[in-house]
Amino acid sequence: MTLDETHDPALTSWVAGADGHRDFPIQNLPYGIFSIDDDRPRPCVAIGDHLLDLSAISGLLPVELHETTLNSLFALASERRIALRRKLSELLSDPGHRAALTRHLHRQDAVTLHLPAAIGDYTDFYVGIHHANNIGRQFRPDNPLLPNYKYVPIGYHGRASSIRPSGVPVVRPKGQRKPPEAETPAYGPTGRLDYELEMGVWIGRGNDLGDPIPIGEAADHVAGFCLLNDWSARDFQAWEYQPLGPFLAKNFHTTVSPWVVTPEALAPYRIAQPPRPEGDPRPLPYLWDDRDQQAGAFAIELEVHLLTEAMRAAGQAPHRLSHGPAKNMYWTVAQIVTHHASNGCNLQPGDLLGTGTISAATEDGYGSLTELSRGGAQPVRLANGEERAFLHDGDELILTASASAEGRAPIGFGACRAMVLPAR
Ligand code: CA
Repeated sequence: MTLDETHDPALTSWVAGADGHRDFPIQNLPYGIFSIDDDRPRPCVAIGDHLLDLSAISGLLPVELHETTLNSLFALASERRIALRRKLSELLSDPGHRAALTRHLHRQDAVTLHLPAAIGDYTDFYVGIHHANNIGRQFRPDNPLLPNYKYVPIGYHGRASSIRPSGVPVVRPKGQRKPPEAETPAYGPTGRLDYELEMGVWIGRGNDLGDPIPIGEAADHVAGFCLLNDWSARDFQAWEYQPLGPFLAKNFHTTVSPWVVTPEALAPYRIAQPPRPEGDPRPLPYLWDDRDQQAGAFAIELEVHLLTEAMRAAGQAPHRLSHGPAKNMYWTVAQIVTHHASNGCNLQPGDLLGTGTISAATEDGYGSLTELSRGGAQPVRLANGEERAFLHDGDELILTASASAEGRAPIGFGACRAMVLPAR
């Protein structure tokens, strides 16, 4: 899309604290679903530390927003979504609207933020090539990357019912695991609970069953982005993953950040897809689009922090486990959307795609604990002296992200966080 007045870095808001906000300055305007007390959930837009109730100001907007999910907003053609963004930008920048709108502003920390959409289906990909190499090496030392990786955007169908918004704790799962030295498997709480740093892609307009999505149109089917933590039980995973891939090691819980950052908000931060290493095959024609290669990646910096029970008790700041750029993806978002629908599979508004763990080439950017701790063999030493090979009960994992570009106001995603509770 072309940039417009909503992207102007000089644009300011009359909402206190919004200008220069690390996540939600007026240039961002991400959507969410909130409720106060036990009230009906309803759509909102984030501005600074506040949100604006969109159902309460519906009469001012070019789009009706009364539902308890954003599925119908996701289904809109991008022109209508852009019209809504321009209107909200005007309402929240022009101080003439302050008197009328102030009573519909709420502090984000005073409300409940829900999942933004009713998620029909969830698919997790595996596009982080450094992660694929690191994990592959742990599972198959001689053969880390299978030959299909550079041709097929690898994915598996995940579970939609266990996706929760940021803040909902994750219960340590129980399951079958068989350590290499054991004769037979046993059932019990995972001893190797891990996180995976991922981005989530919210599907907008769907495709009819049987109709593939051409790569040049894939961007029109994306309504927004979030952060996603694909909680993983590595011991269950090692025992169960062959021959059909992840199952109970992954489906017990997935956490997403509650704000939907739109493609429009991210337009200034689009960058070229990094070229493939010399000798790698060119993607098959149905996955190749020149425009997508020129602007299909994002200048987004991702971070992972860990807050342990001991840190919380001592009032210490979370420990940063890793940081790295989102461009470490072997496939673009358009490529995974197109590949998903390439057999005629129907994507629907509100479907969620995970990119797969995004790791950097170097250790400071590894996107999971099993990579950082070399499969648990070398525990990570935290700033307060604690060590972690895998997550303990009481640990809170926090994903954040910031998009930035020269001459543009940086925007963020808000946190994707959750604490680990003991097994039941
Ligand atoms: Ca994953």
